[in-house]
Amino acid sequence: MNRFHVVDDFQSWGRVVKAQHRVAVPHWRDELQGLVATAVGKDQPLLAAGLRRSYGDSVLNPAGAVIRMDQVSRMISLDRENRLLRAEAGASFDMLIPLLLENQLFLPVTPGTRFVTLGGAVANDVHGKNHHRNGSIGDWVRKLGLLRSDGREIILGPDDQSGLFRATIGGLGLTGLITWVELEVVPASNGYIDAETIAFGNLDEFFELSSRSDETHEYTVSWIDCMAGGLSTGRGLFVRGNHAKNGAARPRAGNTRFSMPVELPTMCMNRYSISTFNKLYYWKGRLSRKNATVSLYPFFYPLDSIGHWNRMYGRGGMFQYQSVVPPENQRDATREMLNAIERGGQGSFLAVLKTFGHRKAPGMISFPKPGTTLALDFPNHGPSTLALLDRLDDIVQEAGGRLYPAKDGRMSARMFQSGFENWQAFSNHVDPGFSSLFWQRVSYVGD
Ligand SMILES: Cc1cc2nc3c(=O)[nH]c(=O)nc-3n(C[C@H](O)[C@H](O)[C@H](O)COP(=O)(O)OP(=O)(O)OC[C@H]3O[C@@H](n4cnc5c(N)ncnc54)[C@H](O)[C@@H]3O)c2cc1C
Repeated sequence: MNRFHVVDDFQSWGRVVKAQHRVAVPHWRDELQGLVATAVGKDQPLLAAGLRRSYGDSVLNPAGAVIRMDQVSRMISLDRENRLLRAEAGASFDMLIPLLLENQLFLPVTPGTRFVTLGGAVANDVHGKNHHRNGSIGDWVRKLGLLRSDGREIILGPDDQSGLFRATIGGLGLTGLITWVELEVVPASNGYIDAETIAFGNLDEFFELSSRSDETHEYTVSWIDCMAGGLSTGRGLFVRGNHAKNGAARPRAGNTRFSMPVELPTMCMNRYSISTFNKLYYWKGRLSRKNATVSLYPFFYPLDSIGHWNRMYGRGGMFQYQSVVPPENQRDATREMLNAIERGGQGSFLAVLKTFGHRKAPGMISFPKPGTTLALDFPNHGPSTLALLDRLDDIVQEAGGRLYPAKDGRMSARMFQSGFENWQAFSNHVDPGFSSLFWQRVSYVGD
């Protein structure tokens, strides 16, 4: 019988919080009910974890217990005619992709790493480079199994009238344990993408390119040089692509080519190294080849080729900061954020900009909404980094935007509650036996 064991230094991808946790690693679905009952019996609030690619504390629960779901990962069925895949919640996108491609199918939505589980992707309602076409993953969930702390396993789908389905999509694991998921998948004749990279000189050029490309391309995203100021503010490389007409069903594998063996000293991450990297990357992109048919692995998952790349940020770890601001304020707010970053001198290697489409989000507290999303990585330099993030919060809040909980490890209750207008309706569906470090912070209602 599986049990909870004490794990020191249980952590998420950002590696800022490393805390002792009670963790169970079941392999079979029929172990889950017993584990839930054990935690409930000991009055320990529960939380599921997938592959912990969330950056902050939404997947941490040091005061309670964690059920790691990544070994509960079997395929259940594939209805080829109706394009419905059913798998256990711990199945990773890395496992699903080759099985789908063999059947000329692909994921309807994928984030920038394939090392995520189905359950984790649904609990964060993840989005990808095709949000303007396909929305987020929750738009494609046709059914799921949810195990509540009272021992009931409920089957939910979009026709659910109680609100529990909409609370579970993007519900950060707080409505119960997702045991399996049925996902509608999409046709894909092969595993290759016709990709194009276009350099742009500033933010206005980005918005121009983005609105034109959303009409013609299924996938769009941009990397930006967040240290470029003045007339070059927001310059970067726009990447767009469509599924290739011809190509093999088995694309060149995206094996990890290199792994960060150790943590780098945090001082390697300073204004000069980041600024130099950004300049070189921009000019290399500007001057190199523009069109190519590429395997989907480097197209969707460029960072997956470097194992443990998060160690690059040293012992202190890193903060990700991903915001979305509505269309009416997207130009001013994005420019203001980039100016604040440039002035603060704490840039990011990985600054990603994308416009979301206009679909209504499927979850009560899903992150995506119409507007522009900016994602940035900041090495954790302590109070100075936190002060910069507070400054960015003010800009996002004033613009009517919100932050992505999957990336967050420090947003205030005020910021969460102002960004997610349905948070109180959502909280009515939170299972009383579940919690997380994130939820304890953001659900606080002060005097
Ligand atoms: C390099 C990189 C690129 C990324 N790019 C994107 C992107 O483009 N778009 C995007 O949206 N996100 C992106 N992310 C974030 C990532 O996609 C999400 O954090 C994803 O949800 C992680 O899945 P996971 O299996 O690791 O879940 P975890 O991080 O382990 O957990 C995520 C949440 O899901 C809950 N959960 C996990 N499993 C279950 C379950 N079975 N039942 C109930 N709740 C569960 C957890 O409690 C937690 O709240 C990126 C992350 C990285 C590292």
